[in-house]
Amino acid sequence: MSAEVGRLVRKLISNVTCYDCDSELNLKLEDLDEGSDLLYEGNCSCSDCDAKYAIEIMDTGYALDLDAYRTDIEIQSDIGQMGITTRKEKLQKQTHPARNLIEGLNELKNALLILDQNQTQIHDVCEIVREEGIIGNSVAHQKVIAALHNYMASSYTFEEILSTVDPNLPTDGPVESAKSDFEERSRVIIGLRIYTQHHLSLPYSFTRFKNEDTDQWEMTITIALEDVKMIDSDTDRHPPDGYMKGSSHHYSGIEGEKINVENRINAHYTSAQNLVSEIYDYANEVHEDEIEDYKKSTTYKYSEDENLN
Ligand SMILES: [Zn+2]
Repeated sequence: MSAEVGRLVRKLISNVTCYDCDSELNLKLEDLDEGSDLLYEGNCSCSDCDAKYAIEIMDTGYALDLDAYRTDIEIQSDIGQMGITTRKEKLQKQTHPARNLIEGLNELKNALLILDQNQTQIHDVCEIVREEGIIGNSVAHQKVIAALHNYMASSYTFEEILSTVDPNLPTDGPVESAKSDFEERSRVIIGLRIYTQHHLSLPYSFTRFKNEDTDQWEMTITIALEDVKMIDSDTDRHPPDGYMKGSSHHYSGIEGEKINVENRINAHYTSAQNLVSEIYDYANEVHEDEIEDYKKSTTYKYSEDENLN
């Protein structure tokens, strides 16, 4: 029997429960024998109610079938008989060696999508302020508070997912420099996020900053370094400034007295986007065969004689 079939059968038998008492039967592949017409056959008994079963597992082409017949009681009809049919695509999805990699890539893509939406929110609210001004614009103020909160929250989620999926993804090669660039740009964002965990919102204001791309002065969200470099409520736990790694870890790259938040968020988002794209390309390069095989074996196939109605 191929290792692949063994893997699918292991999954198929992993959650079979007793027909009589609903207890887990704890079927193990090692307890079954390879059959001639059947894939596997064998006997088992329920450890709770002692019901005895003959197990038969067969390959029907698109699915694997498990049938269990009671052997300790006289069966007149179908009573006492169990049948489980599971499509191979589903079993593949649950057991394929590339599944953690694929799921990791998908989760990362979704986390980036949320970051993207929140970055757009920041951009949009800055545009409103540039067009309408901020004085007396309470709606814009609410939007800024919400947009900053959402971006910080989604940056946290992104990093959580990144560290969870990290062991399943290739992190060497071209990913390495994209990752260190992202980590560098994350410092300020993480610092601001830590600050928001202790204060309801960030002490932002709108300031005219020179846009280096257009050489124009424009209104943008800023935060005074002085206002955030100390978290008074947490200095006992993390002396001297309330930041575990020290506030200079987060803010030493800031030139001047103000943090250009819009700019920092844009740079953070771009480096996250670049990181995900590098991980994608590199994963597809080094795991091409497994990814191809995953796609092929988990895509639903229809046989011609299958009734699709
Ligand atoms: Zn039982």
